[in-house]
Amino acid sequence: MKVFKFGGASLESVERIRQVAQIIQSFPDEKLLIVISAMGKTTNELEKVAQNFYLRKREIAAQLLYNVEQHHLSVAEALLGNRQHPLFTQLQQFFTEAEWTLGEKPLRTYDYYYDQLVGLGELLSTAIVSAYFNTAGVPNTWLDVRDIFRTDDNFRDANIDWAYTQKQVTEKVVPLFSNTNIVIAQGFIGSTDQNESVTLGREGSDYSAAVFANMLDAESQTIWKDVEGLKNADPKLFPNTVNIPEISFGEVIEMAYYGAQVIHPKTIKPLQNKQIPLLVKCFLDKDLPGTVIKETADVKQLPPIIVLKRNQVLITITSKDYSFITEEKISDIYEVFHRLKVKINLMQNGAISFSSCIDNNPEKIELLIKTLHTDFKIAYNEGLELLTVRYYHDGLLQELTNHHTVLLEQRSRVTVQRLLKK
Ligand code: ASP
Ligand code: MG
Repeated sequence: MKVFKFGGASLESVERIRQVAQIIQSFPDEKLLIVISAMGKTTNELEKVAQNFYLRKREIAAQLLYNVEQHHLSVAEALLGNRQHPLFTQLQQFFTEAEWTLGEKPLRTYDYYYDQLVGLGELLSTAIVSAYFNTAGVPNTWLDVRDIFRTDDNFRDANIDWAYTQKQVTEKVVPLFSNTNIVIAQGFIGSTDQNESVTLGREGSDYSAAVFANMLDAESQTIWKDVEGLKNADPKLFPNTVNIPEISFGEVIEMAYYGAQVIHPKTIKPLQNKQIPLLVKCFLDKDLPGTVIKETADVKQLPPIIVLKRNQVLITITSKDYSFITEEKISDIYEVFHRLKVKINLMQNGAISFSSCIDNNPEKIELLIKTLHTDFKIAYNEGLELLTVRYYHDGLLQELTNHHTVLLEQRSRVTVQRLLKK
């Protein structure tokens, strides 16, 4: 059994969806569990639906949802040739459910409504792809992953209940493979014990695939992307990047932690724990070697690995009464960051101040200030970039940061991080 994951870019047009079918056909007689995320930028569109709904701009929300619906209907029609197929009834049910949600008064948290609305993208994409595959010589079974992935109610970043989910996988997913070679499931979503939909965090489909791979004891997981494989830097931001043919789990978890948008950071653990290799392959040319990620890479020397996080803010919290930032104070400050779900990308503390670099999210920053302002003075500096380089050398660092002011730097033997202002 292999697990495949196809992301938004591989489904962003009718041609690409046809191409995905061809890739699958090149694995005849293979048992495949295929995890699919939403098409193209659908998740971003649905986020706007959720935002407008919550701001009680119901008409805008309804219009945006209608646009998503029309787009999916036209893709489905192009793939299936007409609108007579039972798929269209299934799609209509999904739309109706989302429209019902829009008809409610938003009495619960934003994160709750976000999850009820945004997961629609995956339901639509999997239903369309599954129906099309069945007509295109790729017989398969569609699975509603919300019947399998049980989570807590930490909406927008829900945590999988491993024991319950494993039981569901063993009892409900494994038997499907006695009648079918291919099962198609949604990434990114799951459900609580109250049958409320949840999401697992943006870009969470890689992680969904890894959960399946772990629980099915898959021989490998492949993430199909629009790039050659894993590179030493984002080619959209840096020239002369190189492909990395082989790399260890440990190294990739570091890259993801520092913000490389290669693979969702949570993906590695379920695979590492069962020693399941992760392959990154290019759906535009499946014969390219791609990247193999496994326990120990045989490649001795990695190139310098460069990660840039943009739109960063440096927040400096200083005690008003000159009391020291002790371990206890740090713990209080951390508790606030944790509660507001603000991730710290870099931190440093001094006698009476604590500095941290975070993603720029104005609402979160406002909440942080509101919560901390009684005891602390808070200053912040926006428009920064956080550069991380592993396996650095000074010449490269110089080249990468020469037109910038360095506001903060941390350095170990392997890794340098610099917070930069242009
Ligand atoms: N569709 C979701 C997102 O865009 C999940 C994923 O793509 O992995 O975040
Ligand atoms: Mg995606």
